[in-house]
Amino acid sequence: MKSCQRVSAGCIISREVLLGEKWKGSLGMGFSENMEFEAVDAGEDGDLHESTIYGPVDSWRFGKSLGVDLIVRTSTCSFNCVYCQLGHIQDITTERRLFVTTERVMRDLKASAWRGSDIITFSGSGEPTLALNLGEAVRAIKEYTGITTHVLTNGTLLHLPEVREALCAADRVSVKLDAPDEKTFQRVNRPAAGITLERIIEETTRFRAEFKGHLDSQVMYLLANRSMTEALCEILNRIRPDEVQLNTPKRAYPAEWFIETRGRYDYDRAPAKLTKLRVIEPEEAEEVERIIAERTGLPVSSVYGGENDS
Ligand code: SF4
Repeated sequence: MKSCQRVSAGCIISREVLLGEKWKGSLGMGFSENMEFEAVDAGEDGDLHESTIYGPVDSWRFGKSLGVDLIVRTSTCSFNCVYCQLGHIQDITTERRLFVTTERVMRDLKASAWRGSDIITFSGSGEPTLALNLGEAVRAIKEYTGITTHVLTNGTLLHLPEVREALCAADRVSVKLDAPDEKTFQRVNRPAAGITLERIIEETTRFRAEFKGHLDSQVMYLLANRSMTEALCEILNRIRPDEVQLNTPKRAYPAEWFIETRGRYDYDRAPAKLTKLRVIEPEEAEEVERIIAERTGLPVSSVYGGENDS
């Protein structure tokens, strides 16, 4: 890497890459002196009735997790996972946009019950790296609250230096890994055209080397991938995250997005038809945890809170 410089607490990226960024324009909030944005498709924040902040919700892993939604208006993602809690994704895309300004996010945060949260998680109505102001929002919220920031991503945009730089502003990043081969990947994650599993693995491995925070691989165990633990271990040994998080779709998912789907909505009052997926049983999860821990030497935590939980 040439002319490296530290650009945030947790990341090193080449100077050429930063100077080559195209998205320029200013939010005028003093959050980023050198970075400027030009909104590709900025909605008017004034017509936005829903808050960009939700929760806090109880997280099996982190305690009280406050959610940040940088998309808000519709479900937007580069994947359309079969188990997605947002339902069928309405806008399957890889185009990065400014959906809602950081100024609006900060107003919502200040009006929310953020105090007492254990962690602040960027997830919401889709893939957070599609939001052009992700890095700026992470830095602003971290500076204001002093609370650990966490971004959940599917890793599809990690080939973009500006996305890796934005993620490096966070304390923790979780990257999805549900499939060990392209066929299963297409079946489970149903990505936007042109996205391959191999590129995600390569770019997650590169991000691992750049990111100084806590990186985990999140694996959703389903019928489609339950016999693939050994193959997943090989990929995990390439990426070498700090931790593996094993999950299974315990909650039913709705047919389509409505604003409450980004948090823990009340099933009885859900306006959409719900579908349940088969989950792995605690004994099976324990066995999978054991195999992953044995083959990779990595700490494994599970939604069932198995013995390898770190
Ligand atoms: S990556 Fe996340 S938000 Fe996108 S479709 Fe999959 S589960 Fe839903």
